[in-house]
Order: sequence, then C-alpha cells, then structure tokens
Amino acid sequence: MLQCTAVTQVPYAEALLALATMEGGPEHPPDAVEPEEFVLCELGDHDERAEHAAHLWTADTPDDQDLWLLWSGTGAHRVHRLDTLRLCPAVLREPATRTVTPCAYFDHHPGPHSFSVTDPLGDLIAEHVHSEVRRLVSEDGDPGAPGAPGASDVSDVPDVPDTDAP
Ligand SMILES: [Zn+2]
Ligand SMILES: [Zn+2]
Repeated sequence: MLQCTAVTQVPYAEALLALATMEGGPEHPPDAVEPEEFVLCELGDHDERAEHAAHLWTADTPDDQDLWLLWSGTGAHRVHRLDTLRLCPAVLREPATRTVTPCAYFDHHPGPHSFSVTDPLGDLIAEHVHSEVRRLVSEDGDPGAPGAPGASDVSDVPDVPDTDAP
C-alpha cells in the first residue's frame, strides 16, 4: 500500500490557536508550525470519502492526544479541521528482531496502519543509504563478522508484516 499523495497548506492562524489551546501543546507555538507550511497526507492511499490527515504535534500528555490537520477536497473546495486525536492502538510485532512498531496514525483512521504503508520517496532514500553503506563496507573490507567470508554475505531479510490488527 502506497502513501496518499495529497498535499495542503496548514491554516497558520488556526494551527497556532489550536497549538496554544491544546493540552500538552508546545510552549511556543510559532516554533511548531511555519507560515506557508505545506503538509502531506500521511495515510495510505484512500478514496475521496475519507479525509486526508497530517500530523502536526505530539502532545506532551500521558494519553497521547496528538494534533492533526484533517481535510478533504482541494483548493477553494477544501474543507479542513484541526483536531486532537488519540493514537491508533495497533502495533506491529516482529519476534525475529524483537521490534514493536506502533501505528503512527490516530485511532479509527481509515485504511491500513502506518507500518503497512510505504512512502515511495522514503524508500528511495533508504535504498540509496543502504547502497552507500554497502559500498563503504566493501571498501573497508569485512567489518569483523567472525567466520563470515565477507560483508556480501549479509542478506537482506524482507520485512514480513506480522500484523495482529484488522
Ligand atoms: Zn490522503
Ligand atoms: Zn493504525
């Protein structure tokens, strides 16, 4: 599942007000949002009936109420709202690597959880970084794995999502 490609401008004055009045908001709201700032929808690709959503602020409260910009439509037809929403409770557990990845979206978000959504640009950057690392490692020789004949033996284990979520 690819990430939605919708982009919108943050309503600056409204965002400042929301940041200033929310529980656990930033001490200095102008540091948290730029005038003329644009944000990407972070959800997995979705249809028109679901709102787009961009995360604006992680609240400093025990119950994780984050500020999101939600919108639908574009240009003059855009309808938007700023809302504090609870985190999605879903997590991705990978026993092999002992990692637990929480979903980065809000509770009851549309579509798949964040760990099932790929950002093509982010993947491109990650792939570039990996190939750079491989190049540096091969220039330096074996980084020291005992018994391993070389760094090229390190195999890429694909991430198999093992989700216990719907
Ligand atoms: Zn969207
Ligand atoms: Zn989720």
